[in-house]
Amino acid sequence: MPKTLIEPFRIKSVEPIRMTSRAERERLLEEARLNVFKLRAEDVLIDWLTDSGTGAMSARQWGAIMEGDESYAGARSFYRLEAVVREITGMPHFIPTHQGRAAEKVLFSTLCQAGQVVPNNCHFDTTRANLEVLGVQALDLVIPEGLEPARLHPFKGNIDLARVEALLQAQGDRIPFGMLTLTNNTGGGQPVSMANLRDYAALLRRHGKPLILDVCRFAENAMFIKMREPGYADRPVQAIAQEIFSYADGCTMSAKKDGMVNIGGFIALRRDEWIEPVRNLLILTEGFPTYGGLAGRDLEALAVGLREGLDEDYLRYRLRTAEYLGERLEAAGIGFVRPTGGHAVYIDARSVLPDMPVAHYPAWALCNALYLEGGIRGVEVGSVMFGKRLDDGRETFHTMELVRLAFPRRMYTQSHFDYAAEVIAEVKEQAGRIRGVRIVRQPRHLRHFTCECEWV
Ligand SMILES: *Cc1c(COP(=O)(O)O)cnc(C)c1O
Repeated sequence: MPKTLIEPFRIKSVEPIRMTSRAERERLLEEARLNVFKLRAEDVLIDWLTDSGTGAMSARQWGAIMEGDESYAGARSFYRLEAVVREITGMPHFIPTHQGRAAEKVLFSTLCQAGQVVPNNCHFDTTRANLEVLGVQALDLVIPEGLEPARLHPFKGNIDLARVEALLQAQGDRIPFGMLTLTNNTGGGQPVSMANLRDYAALLRRHGKPLILDVCRFAENAMFIKMREPGYADRPVQAIAQEIFSYADGCTMSAKKDGMVNIGGFIALRRDEWIEPVRNLLILTEGFPTYGGLAGRDLEALAVGLREGLDEDYLRYRLRTAEYLGERLEAAGIGFVRPTGGHAVYIDARSVLPDMPVAHYPAWALCNALYLEGGIRGVEVGSVMFGKRLDDGRETFHTMELVRLAFPRRMYTQSHFDYAAEVIAEVKEQAGRIRGVRIVRQPRHLRHFTCECEWV
């Protein structure tokens, strides 16, 4: 058997990408206030800002789009998608939303009160923000290995059960539910093992607490379980996914990830008593419960995409892609979160910029350098994203300084990855030229999206 794992698809429709000169990119980045979120996408050569809603849909999905039933209430497309979600999640209640954060907002507003605390392996940024805006503390309790980029562990997304138990004992009355993010995006796209998930659910149940899963990348997580966890090698990925969902009382999903669509999300719930208030709030903010802020055609594309996202050839190729870039980085002596996760490679900025003070935001600086050097757009997952400027003017910093290169699904080929590996190696060679930044304007929440910076 040849060893090369090829893209398990051929390309039917193409979109040109444009090379810019370094001088152009310097001007463009200055105009973007040194914030790559403010660049125009057409000024980016390889756009690895996010894997969220950026992937290529299949011919079958485009075909399904023509079948969209745009009826306001009771559309056929809703029932088609509901059947797929029910089959995969085993949960009786399904509510579409326009994307993941809408699912979070609706569910948290229904289930949480100010003064409460929610444990998770790591909260994704919108998840954290949607809790904090309600006055709820979002507590990250990932295992210690999950915070050490170079440390090898098959399931670095696992939650630290001893710390969860201590929290339940000390402040159980403040906890509305436990959460777990599959895969752990913020912590490096790292999977959670079935054993950890099962034990966490049991621990919560002993304390009378429900489990809500953030399942944006449930299929990638299921594939990691198949490849790494004893006893799962011969189980179909869909059956593994079904077992994952069997431990949960509810979930929020951004379908822009493993749903293989450009927009969409949902809430699925097992508990009957939650559905009424969730539905009422949904009508207030998203729309009627059989479309939830989406068009009928979006529901159709998702019904197909959820199944394609569970295809094992696709998942094997997908996980291998990240692993391949990791191998190239390792050969160039660049640190990254190891082992590589499902949807992204997270470069450890400290391995490139060991001497830059954290107050100059080394991961943000590296992110800018990748754009300047090769037109590659990644995203900082460090102290701009997770630090804060306190009311008294002091700054808090994140424990890790990472640059996430997130891969849109079914979009870039191996030569794009080879090119990126060369650019990253070149940036490391020239690390002395990389400048840090200071933030000159920032909003109160999710500051990385819109902040403005200048060179230190
Ligand atoms: C993307 C994402 C979300 C939010 O979903 P959106 O569709 O972007 O609103 C929540 N949690 C995780 C883990 C995510 O990756």
